[in-house]
Amino acid sequence: MNVLRLMGRELRDLFYPDVCVTCRRPLVRGENTLCSYCLNDLPLTGSETEQDNAVSRLFWGLVPIAHAAALFYYRKGSRYHALLHRLKYRGDTEIGVRMGYYLGTRLLQTPFAGADALMPVPLHPRKLRQRGYNQSRVIADGLSRALLLPVVDGVLMRTGEAVTQTHSGRRERFEHVSDHFVLTDEAPLRNRHIILVDDVVTTGATISACAEALCKIPGITVSVAALAVAAE
Ligand SMILES: [Zn+2]
Repeated sequence: MNVLRLMGRELRDLFYPDVCVTCRRPLVRGENTLCSYCLNDLPLTGSETEQDNAVSRLFWGLVPIAHAAALFYYRKGSRYHALLHRLKYRGDTEIGVRMGYYLGTRLLQTPFAGADALMPVPLHPRKLRQRGYNQSRVIADGLSRALLLPVVDGVLMRTGEAVTQTHSGRRERFEHVSDHFVLTDEAPLRNRHIILVDDVVTTGATISACAEALCKIPGITVSVAALAVAAE
């Protein structure tokens, strides 16, 4: 490496060291996004190796999801809030790629690795213009690097804003949102196993609506991979 560039980087690190997203401790060589302590402490779900888990249960009786997994449990007030917040609202797309890659390494040796493509949950075009990027897309890019699967984006379109109906039941809310995702071209997805990618799964309503649109495609198999699943 160019000596001047190396010196420049070391100088930069001296004055502006990269810090852990969660605890702000300066990162040392070999660490990125999270320090070793915060990475070891991440409340992993282990759901990638369990067919019946906290993510898959959200879709029971609603849509046929082959495999569902999330990297970690996200609880209200969790110190990992900053991780998801910076990814979604502060333009820190690198977090999504790195955490997506980490999730992907955990999905190797599981049925997820045998899928055909990754599909990020689409944002409404207006929101995409405002934010400039889709946080689920950058997670999919990280997953893609680990699983060596292509990312299919732009085939599923979000056409309307979902209205939150807090007083309705799970089924009712799902039906309300489902009208807002449409397919532009189903041919490339026929007889394929697609992994829907999201940042945080909470009620599962958005994923259910996406999956409902996808399940109209002959022979399709739909799985779900997310960075986090909301826990009590
Ligand atoms: Zn830390």
